[in-house]
Amino acid sequence: MTPKIDERNTSIPRDSVSFSHDKTTVSKCGKNFCFVCGKAQSKIVRYFKAHENENVEIAEALSFPAHSKKRKELLQALRNKGNFLHNNNVLKKGTGELKVKRCSIKQNSKTYEYCVYCQGMFVRKELWRHMKRCSAKKSKELVHCHVIKPVNFMATVKAAKEVAGFSEDEKTVEAPSFALKIGQHLLQVSSIIQCNAIIAGDKELRECAEEFQTLYRTKWTECVSYTARMSAKEKKYNKTINLPRTEDIQMLTKHLEKVSESAYNKLEKAASMQNYSDLARVCLTRVITFNR
Ligand SMILES: [Zn+2]
Ligand SMILES: [Zn+2]
Repeated sequence: MTPKIDERNTSIPRDSVSFSHDKTTVSKCGKNFCFVCGKAQSKIVRYFKAHENENVEIAEALSFPAHSKKRKELLQALRNKGNFLHNNNVLKKGTGELKVKRCSIKQNSKTYEYCVYCQGMFVRKELWRHMKRCSAKKSKELVHCHVIKPVNFMATVKAAKEVAGFSEDEKTVEAPSFALKIGQHLLQVSSIIQCNAIIAGDKELRECAEEFQTLYRTKWTECVSYTARMSAKEKKYNKTINLPRTEDIQMLTKHLEKVSESAYNKLEKAASMQNYSDLARVCLTRVITFNR
């Protein structure tokens, strides 16, 4: 689950580096945390070599020439990954030091938030500025953006059909509910990208997401949803389906209601990227489970 930054204790001395119960502080040292073993290291890249033989990601990054852009990018991502894991642990335990991207003496841990692209931790005020030029933005969104790009729409439809097991004559589907879910997931992804694009001021990406939604509303129904629904109906008549136990569904529904309520309340209090992402994720889970 996501860290509850808003509930951090705020009465810690700003320059404190000592550990105390139920308190988090902001680390003053420049050490990075290793994502493999969790240790703090002042020369993390040099230290990564110790894991080169056991970790594919490190091996891949180090395989690029010494001062190449690609190598720098990959190593930065690995550095962020370790710090992100470390910060999540600190927030979960409620004690420890947060490793942040740029340390501000005046700030406490309450005002720090993650960048959704590189997962680096920033002072909330600086986060927006950073997100506009975050170097991880392009590569991170490329995968999802590639799928929701209007040009690739028909290829996405084809891929979805393959995964869901459409028959050759396209009249039946092996996994109709799955086919329907892929569509909803893509639509959710496109609206999350749309929101991120608006915040980051990326016009091209925003339009790309909007065009996908338009295409989805018309084309997806025609190509995927219709057949999937028909197949689902037939299956209901022909087969007995193993349904999950009622208590389990009730428990899950209750839990999701609770989580989404708190996510919504947080978003109302502070319209931050992190709170928005939290809510979006819960919504997505609710959509998926509702359709079961
Ligand atoms: Zn390590
Ligand atoms: Zn970033």
